[in-house]
Amino acid sequence: MRPLFHPRPVNGPFDDPGLYISFLFDRRALMFDLGDIHALSAREALKISHVFVTHAHMDHFNGFDRLLRLCLGRRKDLYLYGPEGFLKNVEGKLAGYAWNLVNGYENILNLYVAEIHEKHRITRKYSSGRRFAADGEVRSDFHGTLLKETGFSVSAAILDHQIPCLGFSLEEHFHVNIRGEVLDSLGFSTGPWLQEFKQALYAGSTAGEIQVPGQFEPFRIQELAEKIAIISRGQKISYVADAGFHSDNAEKIIALTRDSDVLFIEAAFLEADLPQARRKFHLTAAQAGMLAAQAGVRRLEVFHFSPRYSGNENALRDEARRTFENPA
Ligand SMILES: [Zn+2]
Ligand SMILES: [Zn+2]
Repeated sequence: MRPLFHPRPVNGPFDDPGLYISFLFDRRALMFDLGDIHALSAREALKISHVFVTHAHMDHFNGFDRLLRLCLGRRKDLYLYGPEGFLKNVEGKLAGYAWNLVNGYENILNLYVAEIHEKHRITRKYSSGRRFAADGEVRSDFHGTLLKETGFSVSAAILDHQIPCLGFSLEEHFHVNIRGEVLDSLGFSTGPWLQEFKQALYAGSTAGEIQVPGQFEPFRIQELAEKIAIISRGQKISYVADAGFHSDNAEKIIALTRDSDVLFIEAAFLEADLPQARRKFHLTAAQAGMLAAQAGVRRLEVFHFSPRYSGNENALRDEARRTFENPA
C-alpha cells in the first residue's frame, strides 16, 4: 500500500522536537509539536495547515515565531491546537511584536487557536487584518477528536506532565489503492480525476458519477470502485511527548495509540535514571517500549533524549526495543 501520510522528525533526537507529516499528492502538511523548525525549507513550512502542540515548554513551541514569520504577508488560514493555557501562550508571543503595519497588507493571515480542556475547547481567531487582536471566541464540546476531515481524523488525550500535555493520533479512515494493471487494461490514464474519485470514496458519496478523461460516458463511482479500487485499513500515526509514568497516563497513552502503524514517543531517560525521570515527569526508554508493546503498535520510534546521553543514543534505543519486543 502506498501510504497517504509521510511522517518525518524535523530534527535529531536530542534537538527540540517537531514531527512534520506531509500528504501524498497534496501540497499540505501537519505538524505535531513546534520546536526548532529551521531544518524545514520555507516551501515545506508553508504547506503546514494544522499544528498540534503537546504543551508550551519552550523546546516544543519555540518554532512558532519562525512559522509566523514565514506565513506573514501570505493569504493563509493556520490552525493551532494546544492544552490548557495555550491561548495565553499564543497571545503572549503575539504581544511580543509591534503590528502597526500588518493590517494594511493585501494578504491576510488568520490564526485559529484552540485550547483543549477535559470536556470543552475554546477557539479564538487572530487575524493580521486586525493586528492579531483576539477575536470571535467560540466554545464547544471536546470528546477526544480535534479535527475531522473527509479522509482522516486527529484525536488527542490529555496527559499529565505536571502540567496538562496533549498526546496525538492521526488516523486515516480507510485507505484506497488503485489497481494500476486494471487501469492499464481499461485504457484509462492516471490524472487528477483519480484524486477526485478517491475523495468521493472517502466522503462516502459513491452514488454519483465521474468522468474519466478520454471516455465517452461517465462511470458510476460505485461500479468503478469495484473494478479499480482496493480498500484497506487506514494508516495510524501517534505522537506522545512529555508525560510522567503512572497508571492514569499509561491507560490514556495505550488507548490513544492502540494499533498504531508507528508511534513516536519520548524516551528522555534510561531506566537507570528513573528517579530523574520521575522528578521531571518524563518517560524512560523502557517505559516507552512497554507502553508501545501494550498498545500493539507496529513500529516504535523513540526521541527527545536528555542531553546527558549525547553520544550514547543507542543505549536509549536498545532499552526501548528490549521492552517493546519482550514486554514483561
Ligand atoms: Zn515538557
Ligand atoms: Zn520536552
